[in-house]
Amino acid sequence: MRCRDRDPERVALLGLLVLLTCSLRADNWIDEYRAPAARLISEATRDHFAWNRLALLTDTIGPRLSGTAALDRAIAWSAAEMKQDGLENVHTEKVTVPKWVRGSERAEIVRPVRRPLAMLGLGDSVGTPRDGVEADVVIVHGFEELEAHAAELRGRIVLLNGAFTTYGESSRYRRAGASRAARHGAVALLVRSIGPDGQRLPHTGSLDYAAGVPKIPAAALASEDADMIERIVMRGEKVAVRLKMDAHNEPDVESANVVGELRGRERPDEVVVVSGHLDSWDVGAGATDDGGGCIVAWEALRIMKKLGLRPRRTVRVVLWTNEENGTRGGLAYRDRHRAELGRHVAMIESDNGVFRPLGFGFNGTDQARQTVATIATLLAPIGASEITRGGDGADISPSTRDAHIPGLSLEVDGTKYFTIHHTNADTVDKINPDEMAKCAAAMAVMSYVIADMPDRLK
Ligand SMILES: [Zn+2]
Repeated sequence: MRCRDRDPERVALLGLLVLLTCSLRADNWIDEYRAPAARLISEATRDHFAWNRLALLTDTIGPRLSGTAALDRAIAWSAAEMKQDGLENVHTEKVTVPKWVRGSERAEIVRPVRRPLAMLGLGDSVGTPRDGVEADVVIVHGFEELEAHAAELRGRIVLLNGAFTTYGESSRYRRAGASRAARHGAVALLVRSIGPDGQRLPHTGSLDYAAGVPKIPAAALASEDADMIERIVMRGEKVAVRLKMDAHNEPDVESANVVGELRGRERPDEVVVVSGHLDSWDVGAGATDDGGGCIVAWEALRIMKKLGLRPRRTVRVVLWTNEENGTRGGLAYRDRHRAELGRHVAMIESDNGVFRPLGFGFNGTDQARQTVATIATLLAPIGASEITRGGDGADISPSTRDAHIPGLSLEVDGTKYFTIHHTNADTVDKINPDEMAKCAAAMAVMSYVIADMPDRLK
């Protein structure tokens, strides 16, 4: 400010006023965002655009496993639709991805009764020999028990039937169980599905073979079927299972991340990423995991564009490829954008479903957490003001960890996610359109304010 007034008292008074105004503004910077946040929320929740777009994706393209024509179609469709929405710099970025093929598969109890089992082969599993494997089942409930029974596993099928606790804890059985069993000579692994009980649904998901251990075929059983086998064994009978799987890997293929932007009006080189993963497992329709996450991330830009809200910095939507069986999309982004990662202000991922939003998980400095918590107060009208620990996403983590970028994850009501996760029941009808619209609103407000704030998040 230029001051022409020479009277020292008046200058001092004026200075005091300026100081007071500035400090008030520092405390209340968020007030400037109340009106745009209200507009973003209103636009997102005014209709069911997000849900309808997800229904279109999942009904007409369906599940999108890496290496399939369906994923290619979804990539092309998303890019074309983003252009239609008026997003800028829409393009795809090439990523080489693995191609695992399930083929036909089945499992059945052959003794003491014949009963088909509700099963799904685990992603990345090898297949069985052409005629399948048939062997008596040894039941264990965790890795300690598996080791304790090591001498009994040779030539057997191991059923790892540990109760579901949390995804983080229980998914270790799915990931590491095959190699733990193979180390002691088991010929196949059956694992209790990773999810709460109910509906007799097997849940697929990827496994990790340990180096130097024979690769044995592995499949998930519906929890009800795993319990049935255990009941028969508890009655003192031996259970023999026959497993036949054609699963195999084919050479890597080309896929892509889809990228679209709303270029920043003042600092276009600084970027806020909003994202979800476009690939899915090959069962169900990949609606909750993670078509919904893709759409609500994309909605943030579509809605800003529609309302004419162009933030100071660039907001970039990224639809990742190959989260489920490789995370090659997230890794390729980190490598390709390494030179500009230092100008990434924040990266947001939605991969917990698009149920009733609660807020965001955050990973970053305490100061940035405070700022994000202040922004989240704007989400009180939709009940999404919580900022919790977390903020990791499988696809953003390679970048956020390497370049110390603040990370956020959309957090939602978690009671339904793991009942349908990686199953044939992952279809759009499980998603409430109003809840999904609120998720889109939360993504829009959070990304808009972070991208527009005068000071960079730090
Ligand atoms: Zn996912």
